[in-house]
Amino acid sequence: MAAIIIDGKAVAAKLRLQAAERTAKLKERGTRPTLAVILAGEDPASLSYVRGKEKALAEAGMESRDIRLPASVSEGALLDSIDRLNGDPLVHGILVQLPLPAHIREDRVIAAIDPAKDVDGFHPVSVGNMVLGRPGFLPCTPHGVLFLLREYKIPLAGTRAVVLGRSNIVGTPLANMLSRREVNATVTLCHTGTRDLAARTMEADLLIAAVGKPRFVTADMVKEGAVVIDVGVNRVEDPSTKNGYRLSGDVDFGPVAEKASYITPVPGGVGPMTIAMLLQNVLEAAEGSV
Ligand code: NAP
Repeated sequence: MAAIIIDGKAVAAKLRLQAAERTAKLKERGTRPTLAVILAGEDPASLSYVRGKEKALAEAGMESRDIRLPASVSEGALLDSIDRLNGDPLVHGILVQLPLPAHIREDRVIAAIDPAKDVDGFHPVSVGNMVLGRPGFLPCTPHGVLFLLREYKIPLAGTRAVVLGRSNIVGTPLANMLSRREVNATVTLCHTGTRDLAARTMEADLLIAAVGKPRFVTADMVKEGAVVIDVGVNRVEDPSTKNGYRLSGDVDFGPVAEKASYITPVPGGVGPMTIAMLLQNVLEAAEGSV
């Protein structure tokens, strides 16, 4: 079987157009949807993620408020800027680009964001709402994965889903979302403590890789006809490219695509959906609909 390649770029482009229309309507009513983006330090990958997000906001007609802080910024000063943004009625969403410099406690910073502006969906209140199935901001990457599966009308109810990786931003929320009644998959969440990982992945009708290791999922770990979603974005050295690296997913794409029924490529699969879902969250914050 040769898999259908899920085109995240195209789905995200459609969502971004819809975001532009919603933005225009909000502006007619006098609201300019605005996201404050806090970046501490100059990590090149973080800088490039932030630029990507700000470009997408601008293309949809939305505003971004750029807050660039030195890597040496104190935790107190960072918390003060969040406090100011929490109280600013012209700012609808607040995003703190992770990872933060090592001396800053990420948990403290995330918990300082007003949950009504938590468009990344990482605040404990947002996580609690998600787990309880209440309205709230959903984290962008897992939400993007679910959106893609729905867009391709891939049946999930009753299926066996296996999620590789249990991070707070991808694996754990995805496992939760997939196991809710609205989706009704039966979920196995795997991590470094999982015994006989390949036996688990071979059971998967839906296999989601979020491990952060290039080509970790090989064809012998995948059941014939499985749906394979690759969340991984890994930089692999490649002297033949301009930057000296290329992006690789967590899945050994070519051989796995021979066995899967659907598969997401890297780049062009889940990645573009993350930003598209961020725009949706900012709009919901600006509309006050969450
Ligand atoms: P992370 O925080 O490093 O978590 C990795 C998870 O994988 C951990 O739960 C870890 O298990 C598990 N793992 C690692 N090696 C394993 C192994 N050999 N066997 C079984 N489990 C293993 O990573 P993350 O933040 O979730 O990101 C995962 C990948 O997704 C990265 O490539 C990242 O760049 C990418 N990502 C992409 C987007 C996007 O927009 N497309 C967004 C976020 C992340 P333990 O918990 O036991 O350590």
